[in-house]
Amino acid sequence: MFSGKSTSDFDNAILGFPVRVVRSSRRRKTIRMEVTDCEVLVRTPPRTTPKEIQATLNAHRQWLHDTVTKQQKRQEEVSQAGPRWKQSLLYQGIPLRLAMVQQNAWSVSLNGTTLQIAGPLWQTGKSPQWSPMAGAKPSRGSVRAIGADDLAYEAVLHWYRNQARGIIGPRVEFWSRRLQLAYHQMRIKDQRTRWGSCSSQRNLNFNWRLVLVPPKVLDYVIVHELCHLWEMNHSREFWAKVSGILPDYQNHRQWLKKHGEVLLDIFPRERRSRPE
Ligand SMILES: [Zn+2]
Repeated sequence: MFSGKSTSDFDNAILGFPVRVVRSSRRRKTIRMEVTDCEVLVRTPPRTTPKEIQATLNAHRQWLHDTVTKQQKRQEEVSQAGPRWKQSLLYQGIPLRLAMVQQNAWSVSLNGTTLQIAGPLWQTGKSPQWSPMAGAKPSRGSVRAIGADDLAYEAVLHWYRNQARGIIGPRVEFWSRRLQLAYHQMRIKDQRTRWGSCSSQRNLNFNWRLVLVPPKVLDYVIVHELCHLWEMNHSREFWAKVSGILPDYQNHRQWLKKHGEVLLDIFPRERRSRPE
């Protein structure tokens, strides 16, 4: 059982954003903080003093500030996402036109260069039935704003994410075999700042948003990460190796530099982090 209790002691004056303290009546031993919906929630053992809470907040002040700021930024991004994602839809480098069709069941399909989103887009009522993708649950909070744009956004996001493995996986396999560079595991991830990464455990990570970029750019990212299995840095030797495999890699690198930031931004990811 929790007894929720809001305090003003830790409010705006110190951190500049709302802090809610929940005292646990169970045997919680440590103070724990999380940031949800731009609000800091502090769960404390039963007899924690305000001074102790304040000390914890102070100790994590930078983290709290950064996390709340990020969430605030994301909320803005999501509210702006409607018009933005529609304008810059790409599939393997090809601009897509969006067609929205009213029907009872959800479906997203690609016909040529038209991405058709069909579903109960203009459904009204308290809580729309959620099933843009069979089995796929919406991310937390995504149904909060009820509107055709938000639902279509989520449906398209799920569609893209479902495409990712089928498009990226075979290319990774192809290059891995061709270059005879074996990896341990390959994961498709939701990263906001990078297209791919390679760990010292020989695990490869790729951003699902690579389904947006032209196939040659995708190949460049894959070759780049595979080459890190061979050389873990960006030394002259590393680039020589990449260049030996893809002589025109500079063009693809440039393409990513030019368009990458926008593409990483059009589908803001859900962020929810905690300190421990
Ligand atoms: Zn690199």
